[in-house]
Amino acid sequence: MSGNGIFIGNVFGIPIKLHYSWFIVFVLVAWSLAAQYFPATYPGWDTAISIAAGIVTSLLFFGSVLAHELMHSVVARAEGIPIQGITLFIFGGVSMMTEEPRKPEDEFRMAIAGPLTSLALGIIFLAIWYFLKTLPEVVTAVAMWLGYINVALAAFNIIPGFPLDGGRVLRSLIWWRSQNLKSATRAASIVGRIIGYLFIFYGIVLVFQGAWFNGIWLALIGWFLENAASGSYRQLALMEMLKGHKVTEVMTGDCPIVPPELTVEQLVHDNILSSGKRCFPVVKTGAGVQGLVTLNEIRAVPRDLWLSRTTKDIMTPYSKLKTVSPDADMAEVMQILAEQDINQVLVVRDGNVVGMVARDNLINFINLRGELGLK
Ligand SMILES: [Zn+2]
Repeated sequence: MSGNGIFIGNVFGIPIKLHYSWFIVFVLVAWSLAAQYFPATYPGWDTAISIAAGIVTSLLFFGSVLAHELMHSVVARAEGIPIQGITLFIFGGVSMMTEEPRKPEDEFRMAIAGPLTSLALGIIFLAIWYFLKTLPEVVTAVAMWLGYINVALAAFNIIPGFPLDGGRVLRSLIWWRSQNLKSATRAASIVGRIIGYLFIFYGIVLVFQGAWFNGIWLALIGWFLENAASGSYRQLALMEMLKGHKVTEVMTGDCPIVPPELTVEQLVHDNILSSGKRCFPVVKTGAGVQGLVTLNEIRAVPRDLWLSRTTKDIMTPYSKLKTVSPDADMAEVMQILAEQDINQVLVVRDGNVVGMVARDNLINFINLRGELGLK
């Protein structure tokens, strides 16, 4: 979800992105308001007014979703949890936290901030509609719709299905009682999956009753919830598995250095096929490590360019490489890979490259332990 989206700007220093699926919902909401809801509710309106109101309402709706996410992020940041950004997508918004909250109280405050924001917005919009009847009808109509939708948003998000806000609230309460994050996550994710299945079930019932659009929509949300709930637990379990294990257990050591002017052809024939090595720090004499070449970089170069491209052309430059010490924790490495959206980190001791840890190394480690039934 983090990679593909359009960056639209920073709010409070938090980067905001629109995922492509956002546009589908934007158009759908605007269209259903302009073509159905407004003409049916206010038959006196011009078509142009309905269309304009539909577009403005849809924009304000997403502004409301954004405000909800921003409050999560602002509270999280105040508690010292780094926020990478906010992405708005088909089912709403997500705040990209790169770390889990450290205390149940922190999680509670962060989780509840979103629904409270939606509720407050809902009350403000409903008050505009209710108390300011002298405003033009189109304004109060838009305010009423936004009022109800924000209250609905607050209500939906407080459903205790992890990773919805309500699920996080639930998890923070279990966590606070048990002081055990893992078992709290397991419990909250089970509730989340049950709620996901209930949504799917009710969606199917609706489809059979003829309300196929709402039915499919509900089932899709249920499916998304079920996936997210089981995914969040798996991820935590994975981190637990990696925790306490050092980089040296999985790193690809023995990375021979190569000069920057070596061609890809030479690299493949003289260094890879003969030795089976998979990582090559590019070192310029007297200037240290310039970058790193792995099989990934080589695979990206078409065969017919192997003679003309050098290691310097294809390497991942040092500035883009993250480094860890051989004693670093694997869970920490996993976090860096996910946060930076990169495939490997360089293992460095006293300024010298001693190896590399790629996603593959971690996955093999997890698979092997899984097959042996180790935790
Ligand atoms: Zn939320």
